[in-house]
Amino acid sequence: MTRLRQNLIDLMLTPGLSGHEERVAALIRARLPVGLPTRTDRLGNLIATIPGNPDAPSVMLFTHMDQLGFMVRKVESDGLIRVERLGGVSERALAAQAVLLCTAQGDIPGIIMNKAHHATTPDEKYRVQTAPELRIDTGHGSKAAAEAAGIRIGTPVILRPHVLELAGSRIAGTAIDDRAGCAMLIEVAHALTAHNPGPTLHVVWSVLEEFNLRGAVVAAQNLHPDIALQVDLMLATDTPDMADRGEMTLGGGPGISLYSFHGRGTLNGVIPHPALVRLFEDTAAAENIPLQRSAQTGVLTDLSYVQLLGDGVASLDIGFPMRHSHSALECCDLSDVGALTDLTLAALARITPGFSLSREV
Ligand SMILES: [Zn+2]
Repeated sequence: MTRLRQNLIDLMLTPGLSGHEERVAALIRARLPVGLPTRTDRLGNLIATIPGNPDAPSVMLFTHMDQLGFMVRKVESDGLIRVERLGGVSERALAAQAVLLCTAQGDIPGIIMNKAHHATTPDEKYRVQTAPELRIDTGHGSKAAAEAAGIRIGTPVILRPHVLELAGSRIAGTAIDDRAGCAMLIEVAHALTAHNPGPTLHVVWSVLEEFNLRGAVVAAQNLHPDIALQVDLMLATDTPDMADRGEMTLGGGPGISLYSFHGRGTLNGVIPHPALVRLFEDTAAAENIPLQRSAQTGVLTDLSYVQLLGDGVASLDIGFPMRHSHSALECCDLSDVGALTDLTLAALARITPGFSLSREV
């Protein structure tokens, strides 16, 4: 099994709700090349700086470690657990799912309860239950027993980590968003630690993306990069239900985002720096790597906030196609993640001292 596949699987199986990324960070540290120093800021971002040509624009290449889920809101007297949603959990995909409650005393399995189908009334049948309406059963049977096991208000809850290795190079399961990015950045670190032909590179595994999209901002405002590249999923649109949303094919290669915007409350998004779009287009052509394009509203990453720091940070979202986002069965193709690694390494090598970020035409 390749290192990329093994790291992705192990990272998918490691719990790390937003604000509770420590176990994921520890696993990433353990998989980094020996001799690559890392540091962790007070928010929890894991940072590794690989020195390169100091005259070239510096780069922050980042991806988020956290995953979405829930927080325990209340333990009922009968031991059933009520939760608040944390991040953009797909409520349509929650009924009868298995979850994991991560307590100080250990991880506890539970199930999201779903009314017996035999007793479901016609109007209940087609209604989606919202997260606050859900009940989680851990089998404890009473508030006292659940609390004795360590479950209390504020306990992190995630969809039960699992991995399905589908045919070919496809992987399905929990938190491919964005453990695939985490695994990819480990590959980049391995490729460049001994010899970095490109610019100084700050590799950042960030926190809190699914919560408030701003964890990476703390890293960026300390590192002062000239360029920020963010690695995350790209919405695959090669299924019938997504066909009108774009041309992003699973297994069709890595992608860049030309436009992202989220209007509901945030009014933010990324229109990438043209020099970075050109860089990735030229590199893909030279390396014979297919490059897919994405333009989506309703999508937002923490790059939206990173781009606004200092004099502005030249920004580009890069990524791998993924299906079924924010469900328990996200799906990606490892070949896309591998090609994204190759493309990124080749693009970084082209960022020389003469690489211009000027916006004057
Ligand atoms: Zn993500």
